[in-house]
Amino acid sequence: MRKPVVAANWKMNVTVAEAVAYYESFRIEVENISGVDIILAPAFTAIPKLSELLGGSQKVRLAAQNFYFERSGAFTGEISAMMLRELYVRYVIIGHSERRQIFGETDELINKKVKAALASELKPIFCIGETLAEREAGKEEEVLERQIREGLKGVSDRDICDVTIAYEPVWAIGTGVNATPDQAQSAHRHVRGVLASLYSSGMAEKLRIQYGGSVKPSNARELMSQPDIDGALVGGASLDPRNFAEIVKAALKCRDCK
Ligand code: PEP
Repeated sequence: MRKPVVAANWKMNVTVAEAVAYYESFRIEVENISGVDIILAPAFTAIPKLSELLGGSQKVRLAAQNFYFERSGAFTGEISAMMLRELYVRYVIIGHSERRQIFGETDELINKKVKAALASELKPIFCIGETLAEREAGKEEEVLERQIREGLKGVSDRDICDVTIAYEPVWAIGTGVNATPDQAQSAHRHVRGVLASLYSSGMAEKLRIQYGGSVKPSNARELMSQPDIDGALVGGASLDPRNFAEIVKAALKCRDCK
């Protein structure tokens, strides 16, 4: 059985003071929960304080929302994997559609980041997803396959175990319109098939694929109860600690009913 993984992507929200208040409340909500990997991805500025509050917690881990693939040097405004590791960050979101669309990140750059993260023991949350135009043109499977093949180029059988895939249809991110459970399941099945062709079917069955795109407490259970949906990457709804905790609890219930 794959352990569910639920991650909060706070994007450019939540100050340090707000992060402290959030964690105080969230900690109580998830106190009795085990069996789900819970990840918070704050802005860089809130990482040091949260890292201190978490103090090596096994229950809640930290992710960065971005980093640069070089180790150090003249890269004004960037941050390296080692700098994140120093703050006990374990995961990093790579290939998010906002990075692809607003900041022009290509499959090639994303692949460099995936490999650099793995080389520094940061676990990638590797995001893929089609736009509405691509879906309407019937190209979603082709797009997902390209993003996977390009983004994971050169990632070994051993390293792929540390990668979590996040299927995030671009048209569902921040729109309030989630993929239906059937649409999401069908995309996840396809993603698992592509992973099986790149690695092995045994490996593909072990890898976790999160769904992201307007997940909220009211739809989380239906989505995560699908056989190939192993958790959620949550934007807007994760900004409220009670809502995010509800989604974590839904992941646990889904795990128990699969
Ligand atoms: C995201 O940005 O990764 C995301 C899924 O956002 P939202 O939940 O707000 O759609």
